[in-house]
Amino acid sequence: MSHGGHASMEENMNEWISDLRAYLEYLKGMGITFLTVSRNFTQSPTRSDPFTLQEIRKELGECKRCKLHRTRRTIVFGEGNEKATLMFIGEGPGYEEDVQGRPFVGKAGQLLTKIIQSIHLQREEVYITNIIKCRPPKNRNPEQDEIETCTPFLMKQIQVIQPKIICALGTFSAQTLLKTNATITALRGKTFDLEGIQVVPTYHPAFLLRNPDKKREVWEDMKKIKQLMSKIVK
Ligand code: URA
Repeated sequence: MSHGGHASMEENMNEWISDLRAYLEYLKGMGITFLTVSRNFTQSPTRSDPFTLQEIRKELGECKRCKLHRTRRTIVFGEGNEKATLMFIGEGPGYEEDVQGRPFVGKAGQLLTKIIQSIHLQREEVYITNIIKCRPPKNRNPEQDEIETCTPFLMKQIQVIQPKIICALGTFSAQTLLKTNATITALRGKTFDLEGIQVVPTYHPAFLLRNPDKKREVWEDMKKIKQLMSKIVK
């Protein structure tokens, strides 16, 4: 005991560590020589962390954290299955998404819906969102400060949903998730491990609308996702 009769933080910690050590020795004695540690995408939730998508949405509120709030009509948070094995992450809302408040509902969105259906899934079975939640003026590329301000909310969405696979749609999504400057052409065709989540980068559906000859590669990526999913029991 330290001054005033209260155990110091250090003493508590030491006690906790010696308890843990004793427990591990006990397991070893029982023949358990290794443990699988479940890894969270970000730190383990603490009591103040949101535990549902609804709570994250509430925390986002009528967000004015970056300049996009001045020009956006609606915040496009994301939609789909809160327990999805597979998550699709695009770049940011376009005109139609800004009007409707839903991700991927314009022309590119209709193509994404077909891509999802091509592997015998429905939109409602997966979770769909974007790196940034507000439409940039004239659909310009997201800027670094906007990405940095918005990604903590995406990370929380990932933490709650705990997908096994993330399909990163296009350059911004893949670069942000994988923290790289590599081009989507260099990244697609590969699978990346993001703290236990398989990240499969592919071309953005809007790019496919302009370059239909690239659909074959996206089909290859979808087949890979289907194969990964077949090995997963969630
Ligand atoms: N493009 C995106 O990246 N996201 C959408 O929601 C719509 C179009």
